[in-house]
Amino acid sequence: MTNKWEDNIRKVTPYVPGEQPQGTGIIKLNTNENPYPPSPGVYETFQELDVTRFALYPDPSATELVRGLETYYGLEEGQVFVGVGSDDVLSLAFLTFFNSDKPILFPDVTYSFYPVWADVYRIPYECPALDEDFRIRAEDYKKENGGIVIANPNAPTSLGMKRSELEEIIRSNPDVIVIIDEAYVDFGGETVLPLLDTYENLLVVRTYSKSRSLAGMRIGFAMGNRRLIQAMTDVKESINSYTMTTASIRIGAASLRDEDYFQERLKQVVATRKWTKAELEKRGFEVLDSRTNFLFAKKPGVSGQEIFEKLRREKIFVRHFNGERIKDYLRITVGTDEQMISLFDALDKIL
Ligand code: PMP
Repeated sequence: MTNKWEDNIRKVTPYVPGEQPQGTGIIKLNTNENPYPPSPGVYETFQELDVTRFALYPDPSATELVRGLETYYGLEEGQVFVGVGSDDVLSLAFLTFFNSDKPILFPDVTYSFYPVWADVYRIPYECPALDEDFRIRAEDYKKENGGIVIANPNAPTSLGMKRSELEEIIRSNPDVIVIIDEAYVDFGGETVLPLLDTYENLLVVRTYSKSRSLAGMRIGFAMGNRRLIQAMTDVKESINSYTMTTASIRIGAASLRDEDYFQERLKQVVATRKWTKAELEKRGFEVLDSRTNFLFAKKPGVSGQEIFEKLRREKIFVRHFNGERIKDYLRITVGTDEQMISLFDALDKIL
């Protein structure tokens, strides 16, 4: 028997994040975390946290973190919005800016949270197909729409798009907001940040989860002109005044002060990525040209699902998606060199 109240429940099909296995001896290459620890300044700040302060609400404007980011990126006051990871920021941006009857546009193969937010907020959407090389075609984004969201570099393909191509999309759509999700840009993508001064319809979203080794702290942010940031702040403050914790505000600000450490670790991940790609190719894999901290690879003639399952038995977790166009591929996070050696050993054993 179904109850009448069931009709009033908002029915959604949730996003399924990659597994967070809890056992020991597991090599986790499935959710694009950074294999290196956060910066020394983050450790110090954490140790100095005054726990008695936790009795009080945090600063609702997260001023220390917001100012830190504005300074770091050379922006003016009022150009940064922070949230609980970029998922929170993106979700709020969807709610704030995608508020028309026209469909929003995002590629058919991209971050699989986009259709979930569109569904939960009842936003219609269309998904132009990537070309056969998994590239986004700028011309597909020149039709009438209610907004655009593009991950650059894209996930799970790992491919980057040129700033000039993205500019073409932003310029052709002055009547809607274009969100560029730059979750992975620090690993070698071309940022659209320099375009912020020219285009008032551009919102750039970033995260601390990948390049800053702080996935567990849940810090994300958006950069745009003051009106966009104010609009997001108004919506956020209509839902929850205090999204950032006292700890996340302080730690997020501290991470920005360790620039040398940040650049060193980025270089290391990029070097390991290059070497891993070559090693996978030696083993017969086709690997896309990654601008991220992960590789998108397939071994012709062997199913992605099969390699995924066999690696899992070896306690190596990678990500496999069942989508029609990408089911032969694996998405492999770039770990430490030692983790990659374990991956190669496992592949040599199972293939
Ligand atoms: N955008 C993209 C393209 C991602 O892959 C991810 C990671 N799942 C996110 C945003 C969200 O990351 P976070 O919420 O940890 O900032």
